[in-house]
Amino acid sequence: MSTFWNKQIERADLLAAESSGAKGLLTFYAQLLRAQAGIYDSLRSRKDWLPSGDLETDVPIVRSSMPALLNTVARHGPTSLASEAQALLAEPEILAAQLLEHWRNPSDTQFFAKALLQPYARWLAETKTTPFGRELAGGERACPFCGGRPQLSFLQAKESTAESGKRDLLCSTCLSSWEFRRVVCANCGEERPAKLCYFHSREFDHIRIEACDSCKHYLKGIDLTRLGLAVPLVDEIYSAALDLWARERGYTKIELNLVGV
Ligand SMILES: [Zn+2]
Ligand SMILES: [Zn+2]
Repeated sequence: MSTFWNKQIERADLLAAESSGAKGLLTFYAQLLRAQAGIYDSLRSRKDWLPSGDLETDVPIVRSSMPALLNTVARHGPTSLASEAQALLAEPEILAAQLLEHWRNPSDTQFFAKALLQPYARWLAETKTTPFGRELAGGERACPFCGGRPQLSFLQAKESTAESGKRDLLCSTCLSSWEFRRVVCANCGEERPAKLCYFHSREFDHIRIEACDSCKHYLKGIDLTRLGLAVPLVDEIYSAALDLWARERGYTKIELNLVGV
């Protein structure tokens, strides 16, 4: 299994073992990650096949991974998702259509399509296969590889300088990251410091809410210079309590995470 997926799974298992408010979410996410890693491995190890980048062409292969994910959700998911998974197992055509719809017009509420396409899009990114049929808006606030929206931001130490770190955004579709300016809203591009606000609690010392008063959107920033062993996608879910704070103040998340927070 690739180191990327292993890293996510190990971190999710570790944090799920803690008694935190996000225990249930993380336990489910750890199982989801296992299913996604399985999808990724089955795509990667497929003989004589590389993705074309055009989902319409690749969908027969991608959909062969659907039952494994659906079974995982049926077994470990919250009740509503579990029954949806059961229904989709009986009617696979519906999900195949949702995959294409999500590819062309992504939405963070299309849980199954998003969960299935993340390992596919990651495999495209790793094989540098340009995505096709996905002509999204673009711009510096979208993933330069696939056009996806940012799931979160993270700070990591710069190699050679004493600067406090560089900020990257992580793509919600292909899970790769791109460098982004530090004091700018990742949703609307607002730069005026007075319009940008941050919230941080001692419980999650390495995580903060990065919100914008111009567009009323937010995402979470994971500071790896404070906690190097954090894994952004997983720690973002671990700190679900911070989302509550943001929602209570009227901010909307730029992109809900895979467990719907
Ligand atoms: Zn992307
Ligand atoms: Zn904004």
